[in-house]
Amino acid sequence: MKFTFVTLFANIVEGYFTDSILKRAIEKELLHVEYLNPRDFSDNKHHKVDDTAVGGGAGMVMNPQPLYDALKSLKSQDEDVHVVFLTPVGKPFKQNDAKRLSKKSHIAFVSGRYEGIDERVIENYADEVFSIGDYILTGGELASLVICDAVSRNVDGVLGNSDSLTVESFETPLLEAPSFSKPKDYEGNCPPSEYLKGNHSKIRTLKLVLSEYKTKFFRPQELLKHRTRKSYEK
Ligand code: SAH
Repeated sequence: MKFTFVTLFANIVEGYFTDSILKRAIEKELLHVEYLNPRDFSDNKHHKVDDTAVGGGAGMVMNPQPLYDALKSLKSQDEDVHVVFLTPVGKPFKQNDAKRLSKKSHIAFVSGRYEGIDERVIENYADEVFSIGDYILTGGELASLVICDAVSRNVDGVLGNSDSLTVESFETPLLEAPSFSKPKDYEGNCPPSEYLKGNHSKIRTLKLVLSEYKTKFFRPQELLKHRTRKSYEK
């Protein structure tokens, strides 16, 4: 699967792929990452990419021309490229989107900077528009990386153990039950005793109860959507 980051600041993005799971996925040629800088497409003699807002307002807005030309060039090389814009006013990105997007062959992430991107670019080129949460970042690069990471771990072969994908939070309405590692006793704190006894059916029941507690505490609105345990139990 290929990702193209359309960004003025590729160096911010590059570092994320230099270690751990995504680095290995690139080495195994499961993922390919490329960068496209709108500044390289600017027809302004100083390679300007932004200007003051038409109609007034604080700050600078990214001009249409460099982004139009960058995206035209991308589409001419691969007409199947799926173009995703990052903006705080987009659709909230969810785990289901990560799974769905992992089936695409090529995704381009377009990052805004300053006050954002001229709306005409979004109107003409967006296949999808996502927000990663209700807060304002200085640019779309982190948001692109968040989505790229969540999509990548759903690409076949990227995670060593694909079971990890099925037992996680957001696969059901319940959040995942707490996990514990070794040693069993750490500074006098132990996992629930049932975890240590090895009866898998009892562990499963206890984990379901702990998942319900966690969800009630952190996401009470999720449980309110379900009347019975059957409607969310696997
Ligand atoms: N003036 C805009 C914010 C611009 S922030 C507004 O009020 O809506 C600059 C850029 O950062 C945006 O173009 C977008 O690409 C990115 N960005 C900021 N917050 C984001 C978020 N929550 N999700 C996705 N992208 C975000």
